[in-house]
Amino acid sequence: MPASSTQTATPLDPSVPEASSGESPSNAEASGGRSAEFPTEFRPLWAQIALWIFLVVPTLAVVAGVVFAALGGGISLIDVALAILFVTITSHGVTIGYHRMATHGAFKGKRWLRITLAVCGSMSAEGSVIRWAADHRMHHAFSDRDGDPHSPWRYGTGFRAVARGLWWAHVGWLFDREETPVERYAPDLLKDPDLRRVDRLFPQLMALSLVAPAVLGFALTGGSWWGALTAFFWAGIVRIFVVHHTTFAINSICHVTGTRPFMTRDKAVNVWPLAILSMGESWHNYHHADPTSARHGVDPGQLDSSAALIRIFERLGWVSDVRWPKPARVEARRTSADPAS
Ligand SMILES: [Zn+2]
Ligand SMILES: [Zn+2]
Repeated sequence: MPASSTQTATPLDPSVPEASSGESPSNAEASGGRSAEFPTEFRPLWAQIALWIFLVVPTLAVVAGVVFAALGGGISLIDVALAILFVTITSHGVTIGYHRMATHGAFKGKRWLRITLAVCGSMSAEGSVIRWAADHRMHHAFSDRDGDPHSPWRYGTGFRAVARGLWWAHVGWLFDREETPVERYAPDLLKDPDLRRVDRLFPQLMALSLVAPAVLGFALTGGSWWGALTAFFWAGIVRIFVVHHTTFAINSICHVTGTRPFMTRDKAVNVWPLAILSMGESWHNYHHADPTSARHGVDPGQLDSSAALIRIFERLGWVSDVRWPKPARVEARRTSADPAS
């Protein structure tokens, strides 16, 4: 297998483009969509139906799972192990593959690794890789301002407005049929034949994401169909719910309540309770201060498993040109307030 590769994502310069200024709420609502100023595309009906299914069914599964467990159904150790395995694989696919690699170009990876990471990210059921990256680049470009696809400050700064905004940032925006134009926000990724292929295979990878736990459950229980069914349920559907809502919490909670040790022009915050489950992505204040950094948890004790894995990949020679945050770069972004805040 050829070892050479290039990761061609253009790291988004957080300084451009400016959308609007000031602390005033976005006028996106008044324009009926994200904003009349910013061109968008419209999601086809089949994709809208699929989105509803993949958001509603896992939610119902969690309710059913709790009832099932409460009635004495329990959950086997194999199901727990498979669920943790699939959370770990698919979440890191998003955090390392979709986010730090494809969206921000935080490192260059060998071709097989880039494809693998994009495949693992696709199995999280958060949309195809190029679509995800385009949405997220638009988020950084207009963060918490008019044009941001999912700012919790969209409706204003009052209590009710922020409560509505949190819902919008968490899941509401996903149901909006307006989509980020990928040609505008991810032209480099569209030129990458490997990522384009993985992007096109998203429906098949979604099927794999549900079938793989069932197959493993079947095998690990010595050919039990019940073992296949429960693994499909816990490590397939319920796992998708867990990974979804962890990612969604970065868009909602991590732009509202937490600490701001670093300077950003938006309201991104660090939220330590989410560090482990989010694989290090909840150090979101530093991420917005330095979007191309391969590490988000830059202060001592800030767990960032995504950065730890990138470090391992680097030592194995699988990735190169990793944008590790140098101490001077970190300090230059720190607010003058208490560094520990
Ligand atoms: Zn953000
Ligand atoms: Zn980002």
